[in-house]
Amino acid sequence: MKDRVILHVDCNSFFASVEQVFRPELADVPMAVCGDPENRHGIILAKNEKAKAYGIVTAETVWQAKRKCPSLVLVPPHMEEYRRFSRRINDIYADFTDMVEPFSLDESWLDVTGSQQLFGDGKTIADTIRRRIREEIGVTVSVGVSFNKVFAKLGSDYKKPDATTVFGREEMELIVWKLPVTDLLFVGKSAAATLDRARIRTIGDLAHADRELLVKLLGKLGDTLSDYARGLDDSPVAKLGENREIKSVGNGMTFRRDLVSEEDIRSGLHGLCDSVAYRLRKSGLRGWTVQVTIKDADLKSITRQTTLPHSTDLSAEIWQTAIKLTLDNRPAAIRMLTVTVSGLTDKPDGEQISLFAEEELPDLDRQRRLENTLDSLRGRFGWDAVTPGAALKNDIGVGGGASHGAEDGD
Ligand SMILES: [Mg+2]
Repeated sequence: MKDRVILHVDCNSFFASVEQVFRPELADVPMAVCGDPENRHGIILAKNEKAKAYGIVTAETVWQAKRKCPSLVLVPPHMEEYRRFSRRINDIYADFTDMVEPFSLDESWLDVTGSQQLFGDGKTIADTIRRRIREEIGVTVSVGVSFNKVFAKLGSDYKKPDATTVFGREEMELIVWKLPVTDLLFVGKSAAATLDRARIRTIGDLAHADRELLVKLLGKLGDTLSDYARGLDDSPVAKLGENREIKSVGNGMTFRRDLVSEEDIRSGLHGLCDSVAYRLRKSGLRGWTVQVTIKDADLKSITRQTTLPHSTDLSAEIWQTAIKLTLDNRPAAIRMLTVTVSGLTDKPDGEQISLFAEEELPDLDRQRRLENTLDSLRGRFGWDAVTPGAALKNDIGVGGGASHGAEDGD
């Protein structure tokens, strides 16, 4: 069978680039987009080229970044704007193929195997897309071209900004196998450490390693990574707009008494967020947008929402977001709260950077493991087996039963 031609397109410093479209003067100074510019524990979400030159990296704190570059200009994120740009960029991809699979707001895979007669070979299509996005949208992208998704992604990372890299069969041994194993998709910190102890340091080392040894070291991931390193990834690029039947997942509650203190609000939201996240995970979905509807004692209601830098199904992350939204818009007394997560997707995102400082929300990977464990306990012993600590002793009517009366959105 003939090889597929797959592109991975990655926008360079996406959030920072979009900010520079609106304020071109930001390109002349070291600048970073961060979760909360006022908070020294705020997290750097993106940085421009000038900031990169100071050694500023994504996911470090404002405090660390400012130590490297005291004059760093900090800009709050405009997630809705980034999503709008992302949609416009994906519209350009749709001119070339209907097989477009977003991996995050700023990364997508395209299968252009069947598009070459019309638009030229993979590299030509990559160069055309690169030029169109630069001219029509105003941001630069890097494109990897290869015969599978994993190598295409390596390619978009290999040369940037504004570059095309082709990794064909020949380049596999010549270039790809010489790259560090940490460049490979799904090789996280702990897998990298395990591989390093086995002296597996390059993708070539991984390709030549005994598959059974890898499975012994890493379980199922070992098998997957062995395929990846050998260029055997055959996962298809999804079609645009697949699997979007459920539009939102939400849950609301009228409390036994009005919520007045911050602690009340935190407890009131906890169970709601927990049940929403649980249902997202059960459906294999994640959402980009967290929405809170707040009804005060006079039953006047307001709705506020935030879009996150990535899609989530984590209770802790939805909770922190809902707390912030509620506290920022809080009436004197709250009768009812509803939490809804929308903008759903069934694919995990590439990068998972939290908007929150370490003490508000710990490491997302660790949190995911914790919540998965809770899910399996609930699967075995029922919802009430695991009750958030804050819910155990309160008089607002929140308990393990917060999930009852849950209602899916439209
Ligand atoms: Mg990017």
